[in-house]
Amino acid sequence: MGSLTISPIHAFSDNYIWLIHDEREAYVVDPGDAVPVLATLEQSQLTLSGILITHHHYDHTGGVAQLKNSTGCETWGPENSPGGPYDHTLHEGADVNVLGVEFSVLAVPGHTLDHIAFYSESEEVIFCGDTLFVGGCGRVFEGSPPQMRQSLEKLRQLPPQTRIFCAHEYTLANLHFARLVEPSNQRLEAFLEHCEQRRRDSLPTVPSLLGAECEYNPFLRWDSPAVRATLKERGRLDDDTYDAVFTAVREWKNQA
Ligand code: ZN
Ligand code: FE
Repeated sequence: MGSLTISPIHAFSDNYIWLIHDEREAYVVDPGDAVPVLATLEQSQLTLSGILITHHHYDHTGGVAQLKNSTGCETWGPENSPGGPYDHTLHEGADVNVLGVEFSVLAVPGHTLDHIAFYSESEEVIFCGDTLFVGGCGRVFEGSPPQMRQSLEKLRQLPPQTRIFCAHEYTLANLHFARLVEPSNQRLEAFLEHCEQRRRDSLPTVPSLLGAECEYNPFLRWDSPAVRATLKERGRLDDDTYDAVFTAVREWKNQA
């Protein structure tokens, strides 16, 4: 584990704005609202140096202009983004130095076409916005389900100890849905219980570990025979491809 401190700033009803700092300087990821960020910076006596943006949705970018105006910080975000322009535009393979730690940019289109993620191998963390959630994944608004699956496949290949910092607390709803998909997944039951306790204690369920996600998150389990069996039983699958499995799970969740 690395040298950066990462903590959540709560925004709206269920957004997490991630604060990255070294006790002096700070970066924030996806500040949808400037107000709670400014309050936290003041309280913790931190100087905002930069803003990282994963995609253009307003709940992730709504605070950028105000934060930039009041702190003079720089912004990093996806190229060809309706949310831009940013001071630094990023594409797959680009590097961003955050307080001495190297993050590499992964293109993860699907939820939106401009969606990127920030991955640090040394810190074993990824900021993945609305692509992968704890127990779930983002809705496919702009891309196609196969494209989203490809993006998730890219994330699935990262080391299992990678901590998943997503932008929403959707975990309990996601895990309740996951249970419909895999009623006899014991790993899922245990994790749901753990997360219910965290929420009763008003604690975030984010971050989770990628290796664990692969065991209970139905949106990373397109190759699981159990997932396929449920979909077949429910008449939701007529094709055996990974894309068909993923698409069927995504469509089911949209309706659930
Ligand atoms: Zn979004
Ligand atoms: Fe969002």
